[in-house]
Amino acid sequence: MTLNALQEAQIQQQQANKFSTKRPSVDSLEAILFQAIPMLDHGFIRVVDYMGNDDAIVQAARVSYGTGTKKVSQDAGLIRYLLRHRHTTPFEMCEIKFHLKMPIFVARQWIRHRTANVNEYSARYSVMDNEFYIPSPQELAAQSTKNHQGRGEEPLSQEEAQEVIDILKTDSAQCYQHYEQLMNTTNEGNIIDPNKKGIARELARMNLPVNIYTQWYWKIDLHNLLHFLHLRADSHAQYEIRVYAQAMLDIVKQWTPIAYQAFMDYRANGIELSEQGLAIVKRMIAGQKLSQEESGLGKREWNELMATLDLAS
Ligand SMILES: Cc1cc2nc3c(=O)[nH]c(=O)nc-3n(C[C@H](O)[C@H](O)[C@H](O)COP(=O)(O)OP(=O)(O)OC[C@H]3O[C@@H](n4cnc5c(N)ncnc54)[C@H](O)[C@@H]3O)c2cc1C
Repeated sequence: MTLNALQEAQIQQQQANKFSTKRPSVDSLEAILFQAIPMLDHGFIRVVDYMGNDDAIVQAARVSYGTGTKKVSQDAGLIRYLLRHRHTTPFEMCEIKFHLKMPIFVARQWIRHRTANVNEYSARYSVMDNEFYIPSPQELAAQSTKNHQGRGEEPLSQEEAQEVIDILKTDSAQCYQHYEQLMNTTNEGNIIDPNKKGIARELARMNLPVNIYTQWYWKIDLHNLLHFLHLRADSHAQYEIRVYAQAMLDIVKQWTPIAYQAFMDYRANGIELSEQGLAIVKRMIAGQKLSQEESGLGKREWNELMATLDLAS
């Protein structure tokens, strides 16, 4: 993560600010507010604002006048009931705003989640920083033979990984050098050749690869954030977006611990069974031995069900 002295000072200034408010706050989230949590090699996550807490979910569900009318255990029971039964609107009463810095190929996956408010760094207005994602050797693996959409388990050999890293570094550096050359201006704002005009930033950026870092502000309510985290903190998500999602899960744990636990229990670590899947489980409990052919499920669905139940398929 590369923050310059000015950015560090701005963050410290934000953290030093004190406001008096009647609105509820969450101590553990206040403790990390504005802090840049490092992600990948140059990225970060910062919580820059939030609204609501577990109480806000309960208040909205009960349409109540305040807190303290019920016991904590009853509030937890209610939140867990709401999440279990997909009574989602009370979770929309909590909002959180992040400042995120990530490679553009991660941002492309991220932006598919349409239920957030986004404001991105403008490469028409500003020069992009010379920061490119270069994976660590252990994250470099060949195409998976089982999953068409991902990398395999085995990392590359040390020599091959080094070769890949050298190519990525050389190409990134050359693209950035050409980017400056196309604009005829360096990152620091110096003119390269006084006899040339150079092209506009909005055009020069087309030569930059998708491992360059971008930044945005991203505001989302808790219901939609949990949906995002369900998809992107999952093992099927690409590693480079998953690390952000996992760090955000930890932030949700600090912010709304009861909703977090309900989410982990019923969504992240729980499963949904189809009618056929449920019938198979019932037959197995009754002592029947079933094969995939007899089950009525396709091979893939059967294998998924058996893996979920920790049974050999
Ligand atoms: C592992 C993985 C692999 C993927 N692979 C691909 C791929 O190969 N190609 C590809 O193109 N995408 C891919 N995606 C992206 C995926 O298809 C979704 O676009 C992305 O995950 C956003 O999901 P979402 O629409 O549920 O989320 P959001 O946009 O956050 O929406 C949340 C929910 O709001 C509702 N909603 C939002 N907008 C609308 C709307 N306009 N109409 C109706 N309902 C709406 C839906 O219920 C939706 O589930 C992949 C995602 C994952 C996690």
